[in-house]
Amino acid sequence: MNLAEIIIVGAGPAGIAAAAAAAHHGRSVLLLDDNPTPGGQIWRSGAQSSRRRKDTREDAIKANALHQLRSSGATILSGTRVFDAPAPSTLLALRETEADPEILNLKYDRLILATGARERFLPFPGWTLPGVFGAGGLQALVKGGFPVHGKRVLVAGSGPLLLAVAAHLLDDGAHITSVAEQAPISQLIPFAASLWSHPAKIRQAISYRTALGRTPYRTGCWPVAAFAGETTGSLKSVRLTDGAKTWDEPCELLACGFHLVPNTELASLLGCKLHDGFVEVNEHQQTSVANIYCAGEPTGIAGLEAALLQGKIAGLACAAQPTNSLQARNSTAKKFATRLQAAFRLRSELRSLPTPQTIVCRCEDVTFQSLASRHSWTDAKLQTRCGMGPCQGRICGPAAQTLFGWTPTSVRPPLSPVPISALCFHNSQQNTPQEIA
Ligand SMILES: Cc1cc2nc3c(=O)[nH]c(=O)nc-3n(C[C@H](O)[C@H](O)[C@H](O)COP(=O)(O)OP(=O)(O)OC[C@H]3O[C@@H](n4cnc5c(N)ncnc54)[C@H](O)[C@@H]3O)c2cc1C
Repeated sequence: MNLAEIIIVGAGPAGIAAAAAAAHHGRSVLLLDDNPTPGGQIWRSGAQSSRRRKDTREDAIKANALHQLRSSGATILSGTRVFDAPAPSTLLALRETEADPEILNLKYDRLILATGARERFLPFPGWTLPGVFGAGGLQALVKGGFPVHGKRVLVAGSGPLLLAVAAHLLDDGAHITSVAEQAPISQLIPFAASLWSHPAKIRQAISYRTALGRTPYRTGCWPVAAFAGETTGSLKSVRLTDGAKTWDEPCELLACGFHLVPNTELASLLGCKLHDGFVEVNEHQQTSVANIYCAGEPTGIAGLEAALLQGKIAGLACAAQPTNSLQARNSTAKKFATRLQAAFRLRSELRSLPTPQTIVCRCEDVTFQSLASRHSWTDAKLQTRCGMGPCQGRICGPAAQTLFGWTPTSVRPPLSPVPISALCFHNSQQNTPQEIA
């Protein structure tokens, strides 16, 4: 069994800031993440293109956060995924190693959840074709070396991530045919006007827009179908609509995601209260469970600065340090999250995109038609196996929620696929406890 005063799950900006803040105040801190290196979604490492535009401000924020982490003395365990919480103050995690995967039995006094968010996918005819990617998913592949140079890419869906992805792909030599944002301009203008109190966001929006140059950014526009070439079987065009007219846009790749969904499964498993789908926290980022804190996207989608700030607050609170000087900024960040959620709320037309044959759960090949007669998420799982495949409902769950209004009633371990040996682990484990250095 491994012991640490403070365990942090998730080494994105929130987890990094939390670990640095707590460890700099002398606490023993263990920071876990399932990726090969710390950084989370935004600072995912990989083979960066030499064409990459320099964003000096973001690079400086990243360098500073990673420097603070490395100099703090926190222990970092990468390639390690938490999949269960079998007893109070205990986590089970699977650690990838070059030999067999290792199962870790982890004990904590205080826990900080910084598990981030993922993209929301909505089904429409053709969304499972080769060449159709999640927007952030395609960006991650490109960071890992996937070539898009000279490719025609359509970016569609909803949320500010579309602009970040389009700018990144353009830097890597893709030809962005257009960015299609489902939110109408009438929702986006009040949001843009409210940004006066967030100069960093204005700078970021201007930098993305400048990077996109003459690439069309169409608001109130969404994909209704994707089509494959007869001989290649992979994507050849995407049908877009603005509600009045519909047209086909030729492209080789579609990068498509409908804003973000918070990763709250571990928080739910630990009994933390959710509100409107997000983990409920007080001003110290403390959840409804006394020794569990939560920071970053699971508490509200508000971007990089909010994740860093809330991580720092959680880390300081766990180290029994004051957080008063950070509270005003945090309340501004929370207001921003509420406005962002409202600006990019999904239009009702997106619920009628699937045809009866459209796959909703791609792990188990469950069609829209076979779900339409079910009454709830549990009923759908029991009768159709929707959400019972390797992704454990992470993709089809939020889609079914949008399409049918179903909310998951419970979360069960394992949170992700693990070897059978991992499932039996906590019954057989007899290790001597050992301190983490
Ligand atoms: C796919 C994607 C791409 C994005 N790209 C950009 C971008 O280019 N620019 C931008 O401004 N914003 C981007 N964002 C938004 C950005 O992630 C947020 O603004 C912010 O940085 C989130 O920080 P975070 O620390 O809350 O979460 P994250 O950065 O998401 O970090 C959470 C970490 O926790 C890990 N984790 C989750 N569950 C477990 C578990 N059970 N066990 C172990 N580890 C776990 C995750 O793998 C991840 O590394 C992106 C978001 C997504 C979903």
